Amino acid sequence: MRDAMNKLGSDSNKINPLVPVDLVIDHSVQVDVARSENAVQANMELEFQRNKERFAFLKWGSNAFHNMLVVPPGSGIVHQVNLEYLGRVVFNTDGMLYPDSVVGTDSHTTMIDGLGVAGWGVGGIEAEAAMLGQPMSMVLPGVVGFKLSGKLKNGVTATDLVLTVTQMLRKHGVVGKFVEFYGDGVGEISLADRATIANMSPEYGATMGFFPVDHVTLQYLKLTGRSDETVAMIEKYLRANNMFVEYSEPQQERVYSSYLDLNLEDVEPCISGPKRPHDRVPLREMKVDWHSCLDNKVGFKGFAVPKEAQEKVAKFSFHGQPAELKHGSVVIAAITSCTNTSNPSVMLGAALVAKKACELGLQVKPWIKTSLAPGSGVVTKYLQKSGLQKYLNEQGFHIVGYGCTTCIGNSGELDESVAAAISENDIVAAAVLSGNRNFEGRVHPLTRANYLASPPLVVAYALAGTVDIDFNKEPIAVGKDGKDVYFKDIWPSTEEIAEVVQSSVLPDMFKSTYEAITKGNAMWNQLSVPTSKLYSWDPNSTYIHEPPYFKNMTMDPPGPNGVKDAYCLLNFGDSITTDHISPAGSIHKDSPAAKYLVDHGVDRKDFNSYGSRRGNNEIMARGTFANIRLVNKLLNGEVAPKTLHIPSGEKLPVFDAAMRYKSAGVDTIVLAGAEYGSGSSRDWAAKGPMLLGVKAVIAKSFERIHRSNLVGMGIVPLCFKSGEDADTLGLTGHERFTIDLPSNINEIRPGQDVTVQTDTGKSFTCTVRFDTEVELAYFNHGGILPYVIRQLTNQ
Ligand code: SF4
Repeated sequence: MRDAMNKLGSDSNKINPLVPVDLVIDHSVQVDVARSENAVQANMELEFQRNKERFAFLKWGSNAFHNMLVVPPGSGIVHQVNLEYLGRVVFNTDGMLYPDSVVGTDSHTTMIDGLGVAGWGVGGIEAEAAMLGQPMSMVLPGVVGFKLSGKLKNGVTATDLVLTVTQMLRKHGVVGKFVEFYGDGVGEISLADRATIANMSPEYGATMGFFPVDHVTLQYLKLTGRSDETVAMIEKYLRANNMFVEYSEPQQERVYSSYLDLNLEDVEPCISGPKRPHDRVPLREMKVDWHSCLDNKVGFKGFAVPKEAQEKVAKFSFHGQPAELKHGSVVIAAITSCTNTSNPSVMLGAALVAKKACELGLQVKPWIKTSLAPGSGVVTKYLQKSGLQKYLNEQGFHIVGYGCTTCIGNSGELDESVAAAISENDIVAAAVLSGNRNFEGRVHPLTRANYLASPPLVVAYALAGTVDIDFNKEPIAVGKDGKDVYFKDIWPSTEEIAEVVQSSVLPDMFKSTYEAITKGNAMWNQLSVPTSKLYSWDPNSTYIHEPPYFKNMTMDPPGPNGVKDAYCLLNFGDSITTDHISPAGSIHKDSPAAKYLVDHGVDRKDFNSYGSRRGNNEIMARGTFANIRLVNKLLNGEVAPKTLHIPSGEKLPVFDAAMRYKSAGVDTIVLAGAEYGSGSSRDWAAKGPMLLGVKAVIAKSFERIHRSNLVGMGIVPLCFKSGEDADTLGLTGHERFTIDLPSNINEIRPGQDVTVQTDTGKSFTCTVRFDTEVELAYFNHGGILPYVIRQLTNQ
């Protein structure tokens, strides 16, 4: 249910359960087949084979619940579908008009803020409760005003702009805040560019990045097939309520909690990486930056490759053809992610780069895994209309599917020869993708350097075959006439791109695509599902399993669970992401989840990914903290999905250690640094630890959605006091921890301080991160799900 979009009809922050739930099955497509005309069909067939049970469960749900619309798999990426089709801006319920709003169980729900619809990501657990009619509560956030002026320079893309904005907002500090963009520069950027900026709110840390409605919004609504009548109603309503902005008119001074400004003329081409979205590198500095990353000690900007190994060349045979890799060689180049695929200017810009490269006789090396995953069928239509898809195909950027691909780590396998060349020679291989996240281990286990770039830059780096290049000074390749070809020779001007956008992106394309969208496709329509109102669980299924959350549930709330003499299951540093806590990617052959699958008769080739098995708690509990890049201080910096079982001193997979504690009836906690739970909003990153018996997480700070997910699952989020952490307090993780929480819920207050004591005689103060009274009520009930069930049964 990660990608459910739960539409709110709200005049306050109350959920109205009577409005429709739009469920877009934003299924991720694994790029098993790339560089082939047949890739879409082949990948879709594999997806249906692997996910048949999961899709059937969702299809059953769409029949069993009356106010649920399902957009079948293969239709596109949820946020792009929302932007182009579902988002209403203003809607009419029985003659009453409301401004539209949305919460979605994916952090990039914020894309819709570019259309003037207030929306943000929430935890899956919170969304599940919202769908059952529970109100949502939040502390009123500060609002940062971000003033844009000027105009983007020629050749600068929306992706360059969003990477610049992301770095500025990260530096400013906007976690938990709203950002509103204003100023005459806003009138200069297209709706798609605004959506690109809004999409990356989670990367800059804000709850949302909002663009109020103006004429550009209305034009976009018309372009995407919303009727003239609807657009007129939207304009009239917003004008009447002073919510419509005319950027061409003098603007009133606005009052915000804090301010930032950017002249669009100052934005320059850039990429971000190699490991974090906000580590922006101007293109002109890329070569120097890359070499310092090779030198630097291991960290966000370092790989610590010894000087003598930096020039290493790994020669290998690629299907009989001589090939070689060096540090920085590109092995994955992916045009992916709703951040960019909803933006025709960067998509057509990429196609123009491919065209110029073809004309000059350049060719992407065949061992680079290239792919193109549009976020909706509209993209295919305008690429075809422009006549440019064929050039993308010639460079290997065939369409591989409509959904989340490399962006979510579904890169698929690399060719065996490439994988072996990387592993055997310890090459720091690179991926270049037009996605929004590049944490280590997310894109592909074998690409240690991952750069976020605009789609045209993805094509340019694929052609160069390396990130170790100065595009200003060094040629990309030699053309068919024997002359060097430089970056400037293949880079389209802003005018060229605008012309193709103007002539190729047409209203009819949106209309025809979305008229067909709910009709499904042959594979979806052939899925046969039971018609029963109650789902009958199949105990033999390794995909869908009856969850244990309501087992042994009593009608009376159990009250706050105390934490006494708990062992530390894991002791982390900063920036532990939800990918570390609950990976979505492949299931490692030696993991507890793999063992479970083999024990249940599943072949290794059919393991599929954790993401596709999230309907089975047995797998997901075993997959919790199973990221192969996990660094846990209890193992003295060793990189492994394991931990130390303190009483026995044994090193075990995290799941096995947790089960030992559980069967001994002992509580566990997790110690962590700053930004615990950043990354994708993933409810399993809270459900998994709960199933492992984790009772509390003590961190320097939490990512917003993850904190709320922990609360939802009855896990206590605690923050160290400012300036303190496990290290400064001298905690090793070998202690036993008792948290001094009152046993009567009425004696606990949101945000209160509590004392934590260890069996080694240490004592320190933490802040309890229950932020509202409602969250306290959830805690009293053992989590939001039992709370909701008790509310429903009491009605
Ligand atoms: Fe968009 Fe990537 Fe999230 Fe998919 S995984 S919804 S493409 S940001």
